[in-house]
Amino acid sequence: PAGRGGVFKVMLLGESGVGKSALAGAFGGLQDDNAHEPENTEDTYERHIIVDKEEVTLVVYDIWEQGEAGSWLREHCLQTGDAFLIVFSVTDRRSFSRVPETLLRLRAGRPHHDLPIILVGNKSDLAWSREVSLEEGRHLAGMLSCKHIETSAALHHNTRELFEGAVRQIRLRRSRA
Ligand code: GDP
Ligand code: MG
Repeated sequence: PAGRGGVFKVMLLGESGVGKSALAGAFGGLQDDNAHEPENTEDTYERHIIVDKEEVTLVVYDIWEQGEAGSWLREHCLQTGDAFLIVFSVTDRRSFSRVPETLLRLRAGRPHHDLPIILVGNKSDLAWSREVSLEEGRHLAGMLSCKHIETSAALHHNTRELFEGAVRQIRLRRSRA
Protein backbone atom coordinates (compact mmCIF):
# COMPACT_ATOMS: atom_id res chain seq x y z
CA PRO A 1 0.00 0.00 0.00
CA ALA A 2 1.16 3.52 -0.81
CA GLY A 3 1.53 6.40 1.61
CA ARG A 4 1.70 6.05 5.31
CA GLY A 5 1.13 2.31 5.20
CA GLY A 6 4.55 1.79 3.69
CA VAL A 7 6.54 3.93 6.13
CA PHE A 8 6.93 2.61 9.65
CA LYS A 9 8.42 4.68 12.44
CA VAL A 10 10.25 2.83 15.17
CA MET A 11 11.21 4.57 18.42
CA LEU A 12 14.09 3.47 20.62
CA LEU A 13 13.31 4.04 24.30
CA GLY A 14 15.24 3.23 27.45
CA GLU A 15 17.78 4.42 29.96
CA SER A 16 21.10 5.98 29.11
CA GLY A 17 23.91 3.55 28.32
CA VAL A 18 21.80 0.52 27.42
CA GLY A 19 22.81 0.59 23.74
CA LYS A 20 20.04 2.47 21.93
CA SER A 21 22.50 4.33 19.71
CA ALA A 22 24.48 1.16 19.07
CA LEU A 23 21.27 -0.60 17.96
CA ALA A 24 20.34 2.35 15.76
CA GLY A 25 23.81 2.21 14.26
CA ALA A 26 23.46 -1.52 13.61
CA PHE A 27 20.20 -0.82 11.80
CA GLY A 28 21.90 1.97 9.84
CA GLY A 29 24.54 -0.54 8.82
CA LEU A 30 22.01 -2.86 7.20
CA GLN A 31 22.07 -3.01 3.46
CA ASP A 32 19.19 -1.23 1.74
CA ASP A 33 17.31 -3.98 -0.09
CA ASN A 34 16.17 -1.60 -2.80
CA ALA A 35 19.57 0.03 -3.36
CA HIS A 36 18.47 3.46 -2.16
CA GLU A 37 21.12 5.81 -0.89
CA PRO A 38 21.10 5.55 2.90
CA GLU A 39 19.28 8.48 4.43
CA ASN A 40 20.79 8.93 7.84
CA THR A 41 21.14 11.84 10.14
CA GLU A 42 22.82 11.67 13.51
CA ASP A 43 19.73 10.27 15.18
CA THR A 44 17.39 8.92 12.49
CA TYR A 45 18.06 6.06 10.12
CA GLU A 46 15.97 5.16 7.10
CA ARG A 47 16.14 1.89 5.20
CA HIS A 48 14.00 0.13 2.60
CA ILE A 49 14.02 -3.48 3.65
CA ILE A 50 12.19 -6.57 2.54
CA VAL A 51 10.41 -8.46 5.28
CA ASP A 52 8.41 -11.56 4.35
CA LYS A 53 8.81 -10.72 0.66
CA GLU A 54 7.27 -7.27 1.03
CA GLU A 55 9.18 -4.01 1.00
CA VAL A 56 8.83 -1.53 3.79
CA THR A 57 10.43 1.81 4.58
CA LEU A 58 11.60 1.72 8.15
CA VAL A 59 12.69 4.85 9.98
CA VAL A 60 14.42 4.33 13.31
CA TYR A 61 14.53 7.25 15.75
CA ASP A 62 17.19 7.51 18.45
CA ILE A 63 15.91 10.74 19.99
CA TRP A 64 14.50 9.64 23.34
CA GLU A 65 17.37 10.99 25.40
CA GLN A 66 17.17 14.42 23.84
CA GLY A 67 14.11 15.14 25.96
CA GLU A 68 13.54 15.19 29.70
CA ALA A 69 10.93 12.99 31.36
CA GLY A 70 7.53 14.46 30.52
CA SER A 71 8.94 16.79 27.86
CA TRP A 72 7.27 17.74 24.60
CA LEU A 73 9.84 15.72 22.68
CA ARG A 74 9.18 12.53 24.61
CA GLU A 75 5.43 12.96 24.26
CA HIS A 76 5.95 13.47 20.54
CA CYS A 77 7.98 10.24 20.38
CA LEU A 78 5.24 8.32 22.13
CA GLN A 79 2.51 9.79 19.94
CA THR A 80 4.17 9.33 16.56
CA GLY A 81 5.84 5.93 16.85
CA ASP A 82 4.33 2.96 15.00
CA ALA A 83 6.39 0.58 17.13
CA PHE A 84 8.49 0.92 20.27
CA LEU A 85 11.65 -0.84 21.34
CA ILE A 86 12.10 -0.54 25.09
CA VAL A 87 15.77 -1.30 25.55
CA PHE A 88 17.51 -2.35 28.74
CA SER A 89 20.98 -3.78 29.27
CA VAL A 90 21.20 -7.31 30.60
CA THR A 91 24.28 -6.06 32.49
CA ASP A 92 22.35 -3.29 34.27
CA ARG A 93 19.53 -4.33 36.55
CA ARG A 94 18.54 -0.73 37.14
CA SER A 95 17.78 -0.25 33.46
CA PHE A 96 15.59 -3.36 33.63
CA SER A 97 13.72 -2.09 36.68
CA ARG A 98 12.75 1.08 34.81
CA VAL A 99 11.00 -0.79 31.99
CA PRO A 100 7.50 -1.10 33.50
CA GLU A 101 7.27 2.62 34.17
CA THR A 102 8.23 3.49 30.60
CA LEU A 103 5.83 0.96 29.17
CA LEU A 104 2.92 2.07 31.34
CA ARG A 105 3.47 5.70 30.34
CA LEU A 106 3.56 4.69 26.73
CA ARG A 107 0.27 2.83 26.98
CA ALA A 108 -1.33 5.58 29.09
CA GLY A 109 -0.59 8.08 26.32
CA ARG A 110 -2.36 5.96 23.71
CA PRO A 111 -5.01 4.03 25.60
CA HIS A 112 -7.03 2.99 22.57
CA HIS A 113 -4.15 1.48 20.66
CA ASP A 114 -2.73 -2.01 20.76
CA LEU A 115 0.83 -0.75 20.42
CA PRO A 116 3.61 -2.92 19.02
CA ILE A 117 6.15 -2.98 21.84
CA ILE A 118 9.27 -5.10 22.05
CA LEU A 119 11.30 -5.47 25.22
CA VAL A 120 14.95 -5.62 24.16
CA GLY A 121 17.62 -7.09 26.44
CA ASN A 122 20.78 -5.74 24.86
CA LYS A 123 24.48 -6.56 25.49
CA SER A 124 23.84 -10.31 25.49
CA ASP A 125 27.50 -10.79 24.56
CA LEU A 126 28.63 -9.67 28.03
CA ALA A 127 27.98 -13.02 29.72
CA TRP A 128 30.29 -12.38 32.68
CA SER A 129 28.62 -9.16 33.76
CA ARG A 130 25.05 -10.28 33.19
CA GLU A 131 22.63 -9.13 35.91
CA VAL A 132 19.30 -10.01 34.25
CA SER A 133 18.64 -13.53 32.99
CA LEU A 134 16.89 -14.43 29.75
CA GLU A 135 14.07 -15.93 31.80
CA GLU A 136 13.54 -12.72 33.78
CA GLY A 137 13.31 -10.74 30.56
CA ARG A 138 10.81 -13.19 29.12
CA HIS A 139 8.80 -13.22 32.30
CA LEU A 140 8.54 -9.43 32.45
CA ALA A 141 7.50 -9.28 28.79
CA GLY A 142 4.82 -11.85 29.53
CA MET A 143 3.57 -9.82 32.50
CA LEU A 144 3.47 -6.67 30.37
CA SER A 145 2.04 -8.40 27.27
CA CYS A 146 4.81 -7.41 24.92
CA LYS A 147 7.40 -9.23 22.83
CA HIS A 148 10.90 -9.97 24.02
CA ILE A 149 14.27 -10.45 22.34
CA GLU A 150 17.90 -10.39 23.41
CA THR A 151 20.40 -8.64 21.17
CA SER A 152 24.03 -7.74 20.97
CA ALA A 153 24.47 -4.50 19.10
CA ALA A 154 28.23 -5.00 19.43
CA LEU A 155 28.19 -8.37 17.65
CA HIS A 156 25.13 -7.58 15.49
CA HIS A 157 23.46 -10.59 17.01
CA ASN A 158 19.67 -10.60 16.52
CA THR A 159 19.69 -6.98 15.36
CA ARG A 160 18.18 -7.61 11.93
CA GLU A 161 15.67 -9.95 13.61
CA LEU A 162 14.74 -7.17 16.03
CA PHE A 163 13.84 -4.67 13.31
CA GLU A 164 12.11 -7.31 11.19
CA GLY A 165 10.13 -8.27 14.28
CA ALA A 166 9.01 -4.66 14.69
CA VAL A 167 7.79 -4.62 11.07
CA ARG A 168 5.86 -7.86 11.61
CA GLN A 169 4.26 -6.53 14.78
CA ILE A 170 3.05 -3.41 12.98
CA ARG A 171 1.73 -5.38 10.00
CA LEU A 172 -0.06 -7.86 12.19
CA ARG A 173 -2.05 -5.11 13.86
CA ARG A 174 -2.85 -3.36 10.58
CA SER A 175 -4.11 -6.56 9.02
CA ARG A 176 -6.51 -6.92 11.94
CA ALA A 177 -7.72 -3.31 11.75
P1 GDP B 1 22.64 4.64 24.69
O1 GDP B 1 22.97 5.64 25.75
O2 GDP B 1 21.43 3.83 25.08
O3 GDP B 1 22.51 5.23 23.33
O4 GDP B 1 23.84 3.58 24.66
P2 GDP B 1 25.06 3.51 23.62
O5 GDP B 1 24.61 2.93 22.33
O6 GDP B 1 25.75 4.81 23.59
O7 GDP B 1 25.95 2.41 24.33
C1 GDP B 1 26.53 2.63 25.62
C2 GDP B 1 27.84 1.84 25.71
O8 GDP B 1 27.55 0.43 25.64
C3 GDP B 1 28.80 2.12 24.58
O9 GDP B 1 30.10 2.07 25.10
C4 GDP B 1 28.57 0.98 23.62
O10 GDP B 1 29.70 0.68 22.86
C5 GDP B 1 28.24 -0.16 24.57
N1 GDP B 1 27.34 -1.15 23.95
C6 GDP B 1 26.17 -0.92 23.33
N2 GDP B 1 25.60 -2.08 22.93
C7 GDP B 1 26.45 -3.06 23.29
C8 GDP B 1 26.42 -4.49 23.15
O11 GDP B 1 25.52 -5.10 22.60
N3 GDP B 1 27.49 -5.17 23.69
C9 GDP B 1 28.53 -4.54 24.31
N4 GDP B 1 29.51 -5.29 24.78
N5 GDP B 1 28.57 -3.21 24.44
C10 GDP B 1 27.55 -2.47 23.96
MG1 MG C 1 22.52 7.22 22.73
